[in-house]
Amino acid sequence: TVRCNATISAERAPARLGDRLSDVDTPALLVDLDAFERNCDKLRRMMALFPGVAVRPHAKAHKCADVARLQLQLLGAKGVCCQKVVEAEAMAEGGITDLLLSNEVIAPRKIDRLAGLAAAGARMGVCFESVDNLRHLQRAAAASGTCLDVLVELNVGQDRCGVDSPAEVVNLARAAAAMDNVRFAGIQAYHGGLQHVRDPQDRAQRVSKVVERTRAAVQALAAAGIPCETVTGGGTGTYRLEAASGIFTEVQPGSFAFNDADYSRNLQENGSTGEWEQSLWVLTQVMSVSPSRGLAVVDAGTKAVSLDSGPPQLPPCYTQLYGATLEYASGGDEHGKLLWPQGAYQLPMQLPPLGELLMLQPGHCDPTVNLYDWIVAVRSEQQLSAANVGGEDTRVVAVWPIRGRGPGY
Ligand code: PLP
Ligand code: MN
Repeated sequence: TVRCNATISAERAPARLGDRLSDVDTPALLVDLDAFERNCDKLRRMMALFPGVAVRPHAKAHKCADVARLQLQLLGAKGVCCQKVVEAEAMAEGGITDLLLSNEVIAPRKIDRLAGLAAAGARMGVCFESVDNLRHLQRAAAASGTCLDVLVELNVGQDRCGVDSPAEVVNLARAAAAMDNVRFAGIQAYHGGLQHVRDPQDRAQRVSKVVERTRAAVQALAAAGIPCETVTGGGTGTYRLEAASGIFTEVQPGSFAFNDADYSRNLQENGSTGEWEQSLWVLTQVMSVSPSRGLAVVDAGTKAVSLDSGPPQLPPCYTQLYGATLEYASGGDEHGKLLWPQGAYQLPMQLPPLGELLMLQPGHCDPTVNLYDWIVAVRSEQQLSAANVGGEDTRVVAVWPIRGRGPGY
């Protein structure tokens, strides 16, 4: 017989509760819980400036109900966004019952799973952009004896999913309003391409176009006498602009809690970077050192850290330790090369010693998290320091399964 192991065996987790950081098996995905909490608190304080606008953090960043529960508690938020049905299932299994699938779901078996979550008691929202898809959602909800909240997706310039015109929004909203088992809940207007626009003025100016297109759709709905409860969109890079628009009722940032090197390159209005603290790290071990080549090799390759938004960065404290900012270059699937910067070649070069544990700041948090089965949550008595991975004062306080990981079925 063929056996299918659907669950992740806890025996294979890279760490146990109470472990020192230096006992964690590598490569591992770490979350500095103190920094994570400070990021959530910062977002909560920011959102307090926009009464009437809810925050629905995006679970695509962590795909883990344990993280989501903590986040909702810290933010005082009701529910999360998910991008894939498997993420929604992971959240529901972990007790989170207010879910928005901020994406279209097409395959009948996936729609059935979505309706199943609603039938089991979740408030389940989902985006749509065609009457055909709406009918499929309606039929599945009816078959499960339940109701799905449906939101029309509006294309606000990313040219990915969504309808283009206010008239189409009205037609789809009308179609939904006329059906049982689906409830027209509003519109989604998200522009992913603007999240990493570096210059804050440029970003604001481009989001104002998003807001104008969204306003036109909201006004068309009002003119047609169709109530539009929710207008949702905005990510880590732009959420404040949508929140301030007077049109959006909800924002969907995900990466803010972890941060990454790409978001660290966004400029703020005051010219600084670093709006969010880095709470997500890849712990990796030096497995080969070659002073003549100015090279240390670590055990985190492309299977351990995503490279789509640039390589991981080494934290500044290593610059003092090694006399230069070592640069990560891909060494293949299982290797990363830490190289002295080009031109800075001089002897003797200081390199991390064989066996040293290092922390890398991922270039892009979401696809990096998706590579791991487990999140290892740590706390430090002092501030977690990449320069003191061997220290006694940093301990593993939780090991959480990333239940929603994978390509997203
Ligand atoms: N909302 C939608 C629809 C998204 O696709 C994404 C990310 O791609 C987000 C929100 C969250 O974005 P971020 O993690 O950059 O905050
Ligand atoms: Mn992302």
